[in-house]
Parts: sequence; structure tokens; C-alpha cells
Amino acid sequence: MAPHPSTLLEPHTPPAVTTEPHVIVRGEGLTVWDREGRSYLDATSGMLCTNLGYSQPRLVRAAARQMAELPFFASFAHRTSDVALALADDLARLAPLPMGRTFFANSGAEANDSAFKLAWYYHQCLGRHDRFKILSQERGYHGTTVAAGSATGLDFIHRGFGLPLPSYIQVPCPDPHSALRQGLTEDDFVDRLVDHLERLIAAEGPDTIAAFIAEPILGAGGVIIPPSTYYPRVQEVLARHDILFILDEVVTGFGRTGAMFATTEFDLSPDLITVAKGLSSAYAPISAVLVGRRIMNTIADGSRAIGAFGHGFTYSGHPVAAAVAREALAIVVEEDIPGHVRETAPALMKALADAFHGKDFVRDVRGHGFLAAVTFLTGSGGRQEGEWGSQVMAKAVARGLLVRAVGDTIIVAPPLISTAEQIETMVALLENAYRSALAETDS
Ligand code: PLP
Repeated sequence: MAPHPSTLLEPHTPPAVTTEPHVIVRGEGLTVWDREGRSYLDATSGMLCTNLGYSQPRLVRAAARQMAELPFFASFAHRTSDVALALADDLARLAPLPMGRTFFANSGAEANDSAFKLAWYYHQCLGRHDRFKILSQERGYHGTTVAAGSATGLDFIHRGFGLPLPSYIQVPCPDPHSALRQGLTEDDFVDRLVDHLERLIAAEGPDTIAAFIAEPILGAGGVIIPPSTYYPRVQEVLARHDILFILDEVVTGFGRTGAMFATTEFDLSPDLITVAKGLSSAYAPISAVLVGRRIMNTIADGSRAIGAFGHGFTYSGHPVAAAVAREALAIVVEEDIPGHVRETAPALMKALADAFHGKDFVRDVRGHGFLAAVTFLTGSGGRQEGEWGSQVMAKAVARGLLVRAVGDTIIVAPPLISTAEQIETMVALLENAYRSALAETDS
């Protein structure tokens, strides 16, 4: 990796606040450079996706080789490319659930849309013609297409578009901070959430609900780590009504939590798993739905009665994206990226805790694996909602550090190849940004 030229004391001139985009022209390892030649350590892994860092030579070579060999062939009807088939085999070997089939798409949202359709189709195959409702969580993020955006539990994704569609229903967010605010123990909080889900299912009618979708850890909603008993209990309720459990591992898949899949780590048994981002380390757009064997068997039997699954994309299983994804998965396995994250995550949490825990205007610090966050007290220090987040982020950028603000939360999600030392540099830059914002606070 090229040495990072930033120092803690000499912030470079921040990009002017204009409507002009901030243009990045090059990346290597953990660092990207903008058009003006300024360098930035990327503590957000692009958008939680460049897990193996920038310009990984093996990924570049895999793309070039496949471009020369077979740049495109559609996976459609019963024809496909060898590389798409091989990637499906790789995923079947790695998958944390007994696998039926893999369905390829191009983005996280498309994978989630496809999972909804698979859930609807599954119920249709069983003669359940009224099961169309999809449950999701407030502050969950599943993408911005009309369907995935309807499942996303963030107002700004809905506003102006008439979303969510009527058959999409959100349940309360399992944010442990809500328990604290309400003075509830974690167990009581989970009891309430599960009770709410039970009552909702009874009120809507179980035979109208197709699936429940959720992230193991809510990422874009601000790194929310549900209490450990929450998903096992939700899963038990869903199973009782044969409401399919779709686990959105778009962020968590392939090592970010310190396991290949959060499914295994949290001992979950979803019916469908969606993956994207880390699948190709973001070098090519590709996503997938991992379809569990039980669901696939039902679909295989039922489709003879109701006709083929009428869904797919021109670029499903695109050979170049598939070749890059195969190489990315090979690196993740060979270099034991999940193990590296497991070993290094305590250094990330320690650095963040040392820098922020108990400090002025800081609400809390939390994280799991390489997915961490600092949340500032909204409305504190004379600031409006979201101002802590945007100020600290802007000051971090000025110091050569890319982080992401969600309201008053700063997300820190380094590429999964980051060393403890590199992570400490990232956190030191972030702390310096916070101290600079603090210095501008009226006492
Ligand atoms: N699911 C999760 C958990 C995500 O974080 C995202 C994107 O950030 C998506 C789905 C949507 O992925 P995409 O932007 O590729 O459609």
C-alpha cells in the first residue's frame, strides 16, 4: 500500500463546498486520490463494499482474462456460461444454508426484489394466492428500487415516490438504544418486539404475509446491532406461520462481521440470503439470492403447475462480473479474511472507545467486526439534528479520511484487509476531526 501522506496536524484544504462533485481518479490499497491530487484513507470501503481494497491485481487480471475469453453470455432459460455456473458452485460450497439454487442479479436492490418474487412464487406454488405482504424493519436498508425501497425503512427513500407500496409493512427497529431510552432491559425490549410482531401477523392475517426481510446488523440505518435473542425469536414466529425469512447479507456477507456469513455467526436459518457488495469486492456489479433447498424443492415441484419463474436480467451472472467474484471469493478464503477481521476488530473497537467513549457530546460507540459507529448526542453542543455528523465528516475529509455520516452517526467500516495500525491511523484522523469540531462548540 502506498504510504498515506496525511498527518494529524496538517489538514489539507477541504474540497470547496459547492454543487460540483468531488471527483476521485485513482485508488490503491486503502487510499484513493482526487482530481487535485489529494489522498484519502477510505474508512467506508467505498459504500461498505471495496472489502479487498483498491486495485487488487488479482481482481484486475481476472476481469481482463474473462473479457478476452468470453466478455458476455446471457444466463437465460437453460443456457449459461461456464464461469457463472462455477460461481454458483463456489457460493453453494460457502453458503451457510442447505442450498437449492443461486439466482444472480446486478445489485443489492435487484437481489432483494428477486428474493421477494421468489417468496411470492414459493407461496403461489403451494396454492397460497394471497401471500404478498412483505415485512421489514424501520431503519432497515434494502436498496432503492420500488420494491426494495418499499422494504427500506427510511423516510427519505419513500418521500415523493408514494412508497412504501401498500403491501409493505414495517416493524419497529430492534435498536438497543431504544430499550435504554424506554428504561427497558434488553429481554423486556425483545419481548415487546416479538409481541408486536405476533400481534401484527394476527391482525394482518398470516396467510397474507409472504416474507420478512432484515439485515443481521442494520448498516446504512446507522450500525444497529440487535440484541442477540431478537432474531432467533423472530425466526421462531416466522417459521410457525411459514413466513419466509430473507436475510439481507449485502453488507455482512464475505467477512465484514468476522465470519464468512453473519447467518452462521448468529446461528440463524434464513430461507433466502441476498448478497452483493463484497461478492466481487465491488469491482463489478453482481449480486445473488441464495435459495435454500426447502424453498427450491417446492418451487421445482410447483412450477410445473403454475409455469416458469418469469424473472431475470440481461446481465444476470455476467461472465466478467462472475469471474471477478470467483477471484474475490478465492482471495477471501485463501487469505482467511474473516479470520483477519475477527483478530483485528478488537483493535478497531479499542481505538474508537479510547478516542470517543465518554467524551463530550458523544452518545455511544459500538461495532461488530469491521462495522462500527460513533453516535453524537443529537441536538447537543448548540447543533441541529445531523450537524454533528456532517461537521465531523467534513473535517475528517479535510484531514484525508473518508467516513460516512448517517444523521449524527459516523460509520467506520474499513476495508477488510486493513491492519490494526492502519485502523488506528483512521481513528486518530477521526478523533482529530472531532476535536476540531469540538473547538468550535460554544461552552
Ligand atoms: N441491502 C443492504 C444491507 C445495503 O446496505 C444495500 C446498499 O447499501 C443494499 C441492500 C442495496 O444495494 P444496491 O445499492 O447495490 O442496490
